[in-house]
Amino acid sequence: MERQKRFFLEERDIPRKWYNIMADMKTKPMPILHPETKQPLKAEDLYPIFSEEASRQELNTTDAWIDIPDEVREQYKIYRSTPLVRAYELEKALDTPAHIYFKNESVSPVGSHKLNSALAQAYYCKKEGLTNITTETGAGQWGTALSYASKVFGLELAVYMVKVSYEQKPYRRSLMQTWGAQVIASPSMSTRAGRKILTEQPTYQGSLGTAISEAIELARTVPGCKYTLGSVMNHVTLHQTVIGLEAEKQMEMAGEYPDVVIGCFGGGSNFGGISFPFMRHTILDGKKTRFVAAEPASCPKLTRGVFQYDFGDEAGYTPLLPMFTLGHNFAPAHIHAGGLRYHGAGTIVSQLMKDGYMEAVDINQLDSFKAGVLFAQKEGIVPAPESSHAIAAAINEALKAKEEGTPKTILFCLSGHGLIDMTAYDRYLSGDLQNYQLPDEEIKKNIDCLEKLI
Ligand SMILES: *Cc1c(COP(=O)(O)O)cnc(C)c1O
Repeated sequence: MERQKRFFLEERDIPRKWYNIMADMKTKPMPILHPETKQPLKAEDLYPIFSEEASRQELNTTDAWIDIPDEVREQYKIYRSTPLVRAYELEKALDTPAHIYFKNESVSPVGSHKLNSALAQAYYCKKEGLTNITTETGAGQWGTALSYASKVFGLELAVYMVKVSYEQKPYRRSLMQTWGAQVIASPSMSTRAGRKILTEQPTYQGSLGTAISEAIELARTVPGCKYTLGSVMNHVTLHQTVIGLEAEKQMEMAGEYPDVVIGCFGGGSNFGGISFPFMRHTILDGKKTRFVAAEPASCPKLTRGVFQYDFGDEAGYTPLLPMFTLGHNFAPAHIHAGGLRYHGAGTIVSQLMKDGYMEAVDINQLDSFKAGVLFAQKEGIVPAPESSHAIAAAINEALKAKEEGTPKTILFCLSGHGLIDMTAYDRYLSGDLQNYQLPDEEIKKNIDCLEKLI
């Protein structure tokens, strides 16, 4: 019998609304607090930094469905629906009775899921009459997605890129420049924050914290300019639910419903994006599905962090967020999945974790690369090192099914491809990478610093 490997939606079936899980959550996330007054934030408090629509979405706990603007949906049509793929070859290699499906977000023009939110955020900025936007980028994927989205909607973009990445990842930089962005190595002479650091330490290689302060300073001082973020915030995860909403219809085409849904976990946007539309049925209809976040063992906020108010950024500029965190001073070492190198989890995911709707697993660096290479050999796509964490978790689930001799339907999000991350593969293939066991003392040290925040 001929078997179908890939499932696509007709253009007319691409979602017209995003799903806002906050409206259905039995326990809503605790409020985001103003960093000085410690009072719950109102949307207006966010207007000076984010677009007004994104600010309202951030705090919307009442509307379960939020319209995808036609202009954004038109852009989605360039690469959506993304394929849902049954990984027959991977199943065969694992000799498992499990059915493994993946949602392939690597087919977007920028090679990752990040474009789903970049297009929405750029569109809102344009619609609200802005001319410029800015952001920071460490690993480079968010900056890349926003460069393309800014070009699409006719905005000028300035990306502050951590100096060491700027020098070590020239192709990420050229991609952003190809799409017309101005990429500035941070610290730079273009802001007060940057000049101050460079005067004190002329050879400083930069950090995400510095890049954030430069971008926020630009947004605050240049009229018509706002700032954007590519993960962690509620509105970002909202935009990513287009992934799970499509996957839900595509799984139906395949005649299956997942027993377990898996996403790799940086700040939570691709995990929430694929999970929340399915979790809706767990909350509302009592469906029994497991949701597994795959985080790196060297940055284990969900499994070894604490649930506490903390800053969203290293520099301490953002509002205080109630979240699972390793402390905003936590600097994960020895990890090549740059997009997972984040100290905290978004507030929605953190509440869901606390309430037992989801679980988390830690994946060692070597296991993630081993899974990524096997996936490339069996399914033909070289995964982003971030996505390989989800693949490793999916493989573990499939092997468990084999051990138990029970069938199981597994769905994971392939958040991006790794074609611009071959330096990391190079180091893995030449035996240059190690696992890193994070000592308890290192975690405790950063978490202890949080107590005086609130
Ligand atoms: C940024 C990124 C991630 C991690 O971010 P989330 O917000 O947790 O999804 C994962 N995979 C890829 C390919 C990324 O670019």
